[in-house]
Amino acid sequence: MREILHLQVGQAGNNIGNKFWEVISDEHGIDPTGHWHGDSDLQLERINVYYNEATGGRFVPRAVLVDLEASSMDTVRSGPFGRIFSPDNFVFGQGGAGNNWAKGMYTEGAELADAVLDNVRKEAEGCDLLQGFQIVHSIGGGTGGGLGCLLLDKIREEYPDRIISTFTVIPSPKVSDTVVEPYNATLSITHLLENSDQTYIIDNEALHDICFRTLHLTTPSLADLNHLISAVMAGVTTCIRFPGQHNTDLRKIQVNMVPFPRLHFFIPGFAPLVSRGKRPYKASTVPDLVQQLFDAKNLMCACDPRHGKYLTVTAIFRGRMSTREVEEQMMNVQDKNSSHFVEWIPNNMKTAICDIPPRGLRMCATFIGNNTAVQELFKRINEAYSAMFRRKAFLHWYTGEGMTEQEFTEAESNMSDLISEYQQYEAAPGEEDDEEYSGSGDDDEEDD
Ligand code: GDP
Repeated sequence: MREILHLQVGQAGNNIGNKFWEVISDEHGIDPTGHWHGDSDLQLERINVYYNEATGGRFVPRAVLVDLEASSMDTVRSGPFGRIFSPDNFVFGQGGAGNNWAKGMYTEGAELADAVLDNVRKEAEGCDLLQGFQIVHSIGGGTGGGLGCLLLDKIREEYPDRIISTFTVIPSPKVSDTVVEPYNATLSITHLLENSDQTYIIDNEALHDICFRTLHLTTPSLADLNHLISAVMAGVTTCIRFPGQHNTDLRKIQVNMVPFPRLHFFIPGFAPLVSRGKRPYKASTVPDLVQQLFDAKNLMCACDPRHGKYLTVTAIFRGRMSTREVEEQMMNVQDKNSSHFVEWIPNNMKTAICDIPPRGLRMCATFIGNNTAVQELFKRINEAYSAMFRRKAFLHWYTGEGMTEQEFTEAESNMSDLISEYQQYEAAPGEEDDEEYSGSGDDDEEDD
């Protein structure tokens, strides 16, 4: 068996991770006590990818739960699936990171990191053949951002040949009013760039817009956002959890999706979009799903793929449907939009179908796009970062924990380099050197 070890870090990481385990446990027929009451052997065929089997036939998530304060752990424990986790795998501090990335990376977090790694090692040793790790965190805060990245670095060092995948929540002023989030996010992205193999961008700005514009929720709650995230997480892990042909493990996803190691920031999407506790208004058809999948409004990253080019795409369909119709519709989109796919990677779109739909839907589709337009998100963060850093605003919170200004300068330039790389690969051959991203953001037109 090829196991995955899951870590959830910080408040957002634990809220979302918790929801992920609720959803996938339900899909695999596992109840809150860890016992199987399913109706199909398919639910168990690859259960060991995410669960350990304990004595008495109980299934226990291979998950390590981490926070610098105890409250989010209490929330997990008292939630509907709180008892499914191994009590030994809750690792937490008391002080909190106070939205300070430096505390997560260098002081409070650094003190907790060894305890987390002991747990990671223990879990990894219990595996037959570990395929890799998945880390769930937000990078707007101090714990998910700072400690999350410290753990990422340490896991990369200790397990250099395993795949590391992250589900990374990107901050937006539409959801949070903490001003230093662009600092925390930019400092984190430097580490994700170096040490993550695959990062699913979960952009709170896009989630907020989906809730507000498409689902007509006037004041979306975090639970509303997390509902969308759990749908995407269940979607992108479908082929890893259930038997199938395509993208059946993290390494295959890596090979199909990442043409250059640094350009590993994926834009996820989902169709049909349905709000929490609601059912879709009408049954979907394959053409509906395909059309929605390629619609910018269904993407969980606030960028417009029409402004960029697809390097690679994977679409995962769930439910009973005609394979031929899916293939035809997907080919159709690609033919019609060929200018939005780089021509130098033939067959850069993969499609997988899994018979088993998620609860409450007859069929659905999940999208994973590696598109150069993701640079729009990095520019958004970069502009907010540069505006503050130019005046060195709030820097003392970070230098007070031992950080230097140099680290801030480097993080800013890493981000600008990344943006330039995306620009380079979206240009037609021969145009590569035309523009370099300056980082000032002055040249960026706003739409909407
Ligand atoms: P940490 O515990 O120090 O990592 O701090 P948080 O995880 O609370 O990070 C703050 C950022 O995460 C802000 O941008 C919040 O908007 C966002 N955030 C916090 N909780 C959630 C959540 O449950 N869901 C989502 N989507 N975002 C969250």
